Amino acid sequence: MTAAARRAAAAIVLILTAAAAHAAPAPPPKLVVLIVVDQMRADYISRYSHQWTGGLRRLVDGGAWFSRAAYPYLSTVTCAGHATVSTGAFSRTHGIVGNSWFDRDLGRSIGCTADPAATTVSYASPVSGGHGPSRIASATLADELRSQLPVPARVVTLSIKERSAIALAGHRADAVTWFNPAAGGFVTSSAYASAPVPFVEAFTKANPVTADAGKVWTRTLPAGHYLFADAGKGEKPAAFWTAEFPHALNGKGGVPDAQFFEAWEGSPYSDDYLGRLAIASVDALKLGLGKGTDFLGISFSALDLVGHDFGPTSHEVQDTLARLDRTIGALLDHLDRTVGAGNYVIALTADHGAAPIPEQAAALGIDAGRLDGALVRQAAQTALASALGPGSYVVRGQYSDLILEPDVVEKLRRDPRALDEVLRALRAVPGVAAAFFAEQLDSRAAAGDDKARAALLSYYPGRSGDFIVMPKPYWFFVAADGTAQPGSATSHGTMYGYDQKVPIILFGKGIKPGEYARAATPADIAPTLAYLCGVTLAHADGEVLSEALAPAAQAVRRER
Ligand SMILES: [Zn+2]
Repeated sequence: MTAAARRAAAAIVLILTAAAAHAAPAPPPKLVVLIVVDQMRADYISRYSHQWTGGLRRLVDGGAWFSRAAYPYLSTVTCAGHATVSTGAFSRTHGIVGNSWFDRDLGRSIGCTADPAATTVSYASPVSGGHGPSRIASATLADELRSQLPVPARVVTLSIKERSAIALAGHRADAVTWFNPAAGGFVTSSAYASAPVPFVEAFTKANPVTADAGKVWTRTLPAGHYLFADAGKGEKPAAFWTAEFPHALNGKGGVPDAQFFEAWEGSPYSDDYLGRLAIASVDALKLGLGKGTDFLGISFSALDLVGHDFGPTSHEVQDTLARLDRTIGALLDHLDRTVGAGNYVIALTADHGAAPIPEQAAALGIDAGRLDGALVRQAAQTALASALGPGSYVVRGQYSDLILEPDVVEKLRRDPRALDEVLRALRAVPGVAAAFFAEQLDSRAAAGDDKARAALLSYYPGRSGDFIVMPKPYWFFVAADGTAQPGSATSHGTMYGYDQKVPIILFGKGIKPGEYARAATPADIAPTLAYLCGVTLAHADGEVLSEALAPAAQAVRRER
C-alpha cells in the first residue's frame, strides 16, 4: 500500500469511527410485550419444543434464549414471580413475599393484591371486594415507561389471575383486566379505572366466556406425539374430569355455572381468550403505533392450573403448551401486521416451575411427599411450650413462614438454648430440610448457606415469618392455609431447580438471537427492557442481559 493509500484508508477509518461515535441512538421499541406463562418450567422448551410450530417455536428459534435462567429465591409462587419480572427486583425489595401473607396488624392472612380501598369494576355481574397494587413496594417497568418517557406509555395487562394482571402492570395503567368466576366474566379495579374500559367492555360483551360452554378439550396433536402417559400416577383432576382426555367444559346442569368457569379457567380455552383479548387491545388502543413506547403484559394462567392437577409430564401440560404455541403465534402474526416486525420487543418467562407429582417421584425410589403445615406448626408450639413454659406461641403457619406471638421473638433472642430446641424440633419434622430463625438469615447466608441465601432474597421484614421452614427436595407444603391446594397433584414454592428454573426468551427489536448459557434471573428482564427503552429503574436487583443486545443497541450503550 502506498503512503497516500494508507492515509486515505486511515481517513476512512477515522470517518467511520466518528460516524459510529455520533450515530443517533437507536430508536426504542414501539411496543414492549411481556409474556408470562404461569408454571412454565425451563425444561419444557428442551423436552416439548419439537411439538411446536407457532409462536413459541418462533421465539425459541429467533430469540435470545437464556436456557439456564432461574429464580434465586425461596418463594417461587405467582405473585412474587410476577412482581419480580415487572420490577426487576426480588421480594426483599418489592415486598411481595407470596400470594398471601400474615398481616400482623390485621391479625389475619391477606392476599398480595387485596386492597380495602379498591372496588371491583365488573364487565359481567357485579362482585364485591377489591384488588390493587398498593402492596407492591417498587415501581414496575410499566410505571417507569409511563413516568419517564416524553410520550407516556399506554399500559395494558391481562390474565386470568388478578395478582398476575396487577403485578405485571404496576401502580397505574390504561387497562388491567382479569377473570373473576363469581362475576362470570372479566373485571378490573377502581385502582385503575373508575368505570369499565370501553374497548374491554365491547370485546367481553361480543365474546362472552360462556360461548365456550359445552366445548370439549381434546388433543391438538396426533396422540402418538405426546411423551409419557396420559393418566400418570397421582394425577388429581377436578372431580368433574378424569385423568384422561377428553375434558368437557360443562356446567353441572348443562348451563354455564361455577363448575363450567372452573373447567374453562383450567383449560387452554382461557389462554386462547386472553390471546384474542390481547389482539383486540392492540387494535383498540393502536398499541405500538403512537409516538412513544407502549406496554402490553399478558400472563397465561391455564398451564398453572393444568400443571397442579395433572403434573409436569402429563399430556394435558403438553397439549396446553401446543395450543399456547398457536395462541402466541397468532399474536406475533398480528403484531407483525400492525406494529411491524422488528418494531416491537418481546420477553417471555414464567413466574415459577413445578415439582414432579410426589407419587411419580416416589415410584422411582426418590424421597418425595407432601408436607402438612399443621405438623410444622405443632412441632414449633410443642418445643416452645417445653422451652418457655405452657402457653400459646405460634400464631400462624403459611407455607415456609411461621409467625409467632409478638413477644416470643424477643424471648428467643435472649434464650439461645430455647431457640436451638425449636430449630431442632422443626428440622425433625418429616419432609423438612432446613429451618431458620429469620433474624439469623443474614449471618447464615454470609456463611455460605445457600438455603439461607434463597430465603433472604424472599424475606421482607414485617411480612415474612419469624421462622422460615423449607421442605426437602421433592416435598412441598400443603394445607397450611386457605390458599394452599391440598387436593392438587403437585405444587411449587421451594428453592429447588424444578421450581426455580424458568425460560427467559427475548425477541425482536434490539435483541441478538442465540442460546445463552450464562446464569440469569427473571429480575434481569425489566432492566434489559428498561435499557432498550431508555428508562431507568430505581432499585433493580437484576442486571441488563447485555450479551443479547443487538449491535445497534450496544452502540446506544456506548453513547450513554
Ligand atoms: Zn401454582
